Amino acid sequence: MLVMPSPATERQQPRGERIVPGLWRLRLPLPWSGIPHCNAWVVDRPGGDGHVLFDCGLHTEQSFDQLGDALHQIGKKIEETRLLVCTHAHVDHYGQAKDVVDAAGCELWMHPNHRHMTESLKDPERLLEQRVAIGRESGVPEELLQYYREQGGTVQDGVSGLVEPSKDLVDGVEVETVVGTWRTVETPGHAPSHVSLYQPERRLLLAGDHILGRVALYYDYGWTDDPVAEYLSSLDRVEALGARLCLPGHGKSFTDIAGHVEAHREAALGRLDRVEDVVRAKGPATAIEMIPEIYGRPLSKENAGWLISETMCYLRHLERLGVIDAGGDEEHPRWTAKSPAVARA
Ligand SMILES: [Zn+2]
Ligand SMILES: [Zn+2]
Repeated sequence: MLVMPSPATERQQPRGERIVPGLWRLRLPLPWSGIPHCNAWVVDRPGGDGHVLFDCGLHTEQSFDQLGDALHQIGKKIEETRLLVCTHAHVDHYGQAKDVVDAAGCELWMHPNHRHMTESLKDPERLLEQRVAIGRESGVPEELLQYYREQGGTVQDGVSGLVEPSKDLVDGVEVETVVGTWRTVETPGHAPSHVSLYQPERRLLLAGDHILGRVALYYDYGWTDDPVAEYLSSLDRVEALGARLCLPGHGKSFTDIAGHVEAHREAALGRLDRVEDVVRAKGPATAIEMIPEIYGRPLSKENAGWLISETMCYLRHLERLGVIDAGGDEEHPRWTAKSPAVARA
């Protein structure tokens, strides 16, 4: 994703704060406009044996010191990390994983569907070609794609290096801490590697980017068949847990998890309705031709990666439901609505 750096402000200083005894939030600065920080969560291990770190922030020149500062504020050190758990392999949650693992000699646990990150680190050329193919599929003109290809090489900013998980964080894997045992719940959709962690006695939910205090939808396009369907069923999974307090990947912790799940569901379904309406009004059309109307704002260098990925996921989901059609050319789809309108489940 292309994002503009923004000037440092007080709000963006690293900060550590206690949520309940034995559990802290680290607020780590992000150099992104509109998303000023991300969270990492620290939970003590039983028996005074160091702590578990859930997520670790984006890698920048200052980020490792900032992580150290935030830990210092709560009386801890990076070297005391015994286990790093990543909710998903996005740069703002996994970016410093290699540095943390190297400094602490700890294990990394993460879901095995992390190719969307790790493959791009192993083979940046291939990632660039994949992004060009997605651009073509969404209707970006060839000369712009050529320019993008020439500008390549910075496609995976924000990661300090490649480290693969020492344990696969799949459904049911448990993490022991002083606030109790956390159980892994796979919640793909936002990313193929996304998991949430649930502590049933205290009804605490470490939700990563699956649900946030303020709804923000994003899906990785091109790694699984239908991220939107995955996301909607992951919302059902999390809702059924009955959690009381959500510890999200960005912003403050919040209660009323059922209300937040519903708000995310409504936003995703509302967006699907909107995409279908625009295809019906404008089709046959490419994603690029429809995005300004779908979102009510023009495409820009800053929002293009995000909006193209999100829109392609909605279009492919509607195609799978039989509501719209790609027009026969898979490499250059021009979308049309099927007539009469097909009711979506
Ligand atoms: Zn994310
Ligand atoms: Zn995030």
